[in-house]
Amino acid sequence: MTLKFSCANVGVVCKKSVTADTEEELVAKIAAHAAEAHDVPVLTQTLVNYAKSTVEVVDAK
Ligand SMILES: [Zn+2]
Repeated sequence: MTLKFSCANVGVVCKKSVTADTEEELVAKIAAHAAEAHDVPVLTQTLVNYAKSTVEVVDAK
């Protein structure tokens, strides 16, 4: 199972999407991208919950 998050899903004008095998890994990747591309150094719990609510499950196989 692959989890996918797209910036566009949270209303950000950005074509970036990240994928990971676990929610924990996905959140880490989202945090890294947010810090680097969106000037959001720290994801608050609210942002994390919002991001998680938009995560898609992609069937890798
Ligand atoms: Zn982005």
